[in-house]
Amino acid sequence: MKIAVLPGDGIGPEIVAEAVKVLNALELNFEMETAPVGGAAYEADGHPLPESTLKLAMESDAVLFGAVGDWKYDTLDRPLRPEQAILGLRKHMGLFANFRPAICYKELVDASSLKPELISGLDILIIRELTGDIYFGQPRGRRVATDGHFPGAEEAFDTMRYSKPEIERIAHVAFQAAQKRSKRVTSVDKANVLETFQFWKDVVTEVGKQYPDVALDHMYVDNAAMQLVKEPKRFDVVVTGNMFGDILSDEASMLTGSIGMLPSASLNSKGQGLYEPSHGSAPDIAGKGIANPLATILSAAMMLRFSLNQEAAAQKIEAAVQKVLADGLRTADIYSAGTTKVTTREMGDAVVAALAAV
Ligand code: NAD
Repeated sequence: MKIAVLPGDGIGPEIVAEAVKVLNALELNFEMETAPVGGAAYEADGHPLPESTLKLAMESDAVLFGAVGDWKYDTLDRPLRPEQAILGLRKHMGLFANFRPAICYKELVDASSLKPELISGLDILIIRELTGDIYFGQPRGRRVATDGHFPGAEEAFDTMRYSKPEIERIAHVAFQAAQKRSKRVTSVDKANVLETFQFWKDVVTEVGKQYPDVALDHMYVDNAAMQLVKEPKRFDVVVTGNMFGDILSDEASMLTGSIGMLPSASLNSKGQGLYEPSHGSAPDIAGKGIANPLATILSAAMMLRFSLNQEAAAQKIEAAVQKVLADGLRTADIYSAGTTKVTTREMGDAVVAALAAV
């Protein structure tokens, strides 16, 4: 088994190093190969997703990804910006299903801005379609400048579109995920205003008939945004399109206290996957050794589960993370009085040590 390790920019290299340390400690039989991506690759090769990096990702069973981006690249021509690397990997690898669990660990209940009773025991799964919608619709607004901006332009546009097979396959993924959980799917749309999402709703409803054991309901995205903070535990699996999923999964991540805790998996139909923390490259804290590596370590656990068929090892990592939290160790983003503040590296070391104890 082969894992492509793409650390990227900002805190990416710091947090990926800790996840690699944890994977190595498991002494499983896989090969890891590292390659540049994002701004780091642009600096080295003039492109955020060099051919060699893409080839390595395509040939691997799984990709462990840190994060890409920095404000300093905001004036680059859009195809050369670091964020294009992740869009390119999703497109080339056909990663159409993005899993973002939002789990509230009982030790971190107080780190959330919501009342403890609203989020205690929270366990929801947001499934975001990743290769369609307005992010990939053509044509995009005509470009009149090479710096990514539109001086003097009177309009710009992007096109929202979904095909039936694209909606069907993400709906199947959502219903099948729900079958292994509390058997409820909420499909989020904007069918009252957008044709694309009336179509989405119709297709999801049709697919739902094949899963009579799963309860399906539909919710407009504005209401879903509200319900996520009003009564988040009403949800089990939430399935939605690319743009709504982008926004709602970030909102859901904050329910749990810190974006530094949340892993994600993006899968294709062959089981190949890209695993990354839900957060970005956090340039504001890069190089300070204070980033929370747990989202990346938990992403490595998802990688073992979904792409490498190592469920026992995945559970071991998750139990080790739980133990470290129960022992009171916290990086700055989740620190509260009475707990012990640790650095990125100390947190990684603690998870490795906990592996032996779980
Ligand atoms: P961000 O997620 O990088 O940071 C948001 C806030 O959360 C910051 O205050 C940051 O310090 C904090 N944070 C994030 N991860 C943390 C961690 N592990 N531990 C502790 N604190 C953490 O989002 P942003 O600031 O909007 O974006 C920064 C850059 O990241 C941009 O260039 C953006 O395009 C890029 N980005 C990349 C990805 C990706 O690589 N998939 C995703 C989102 C944003």
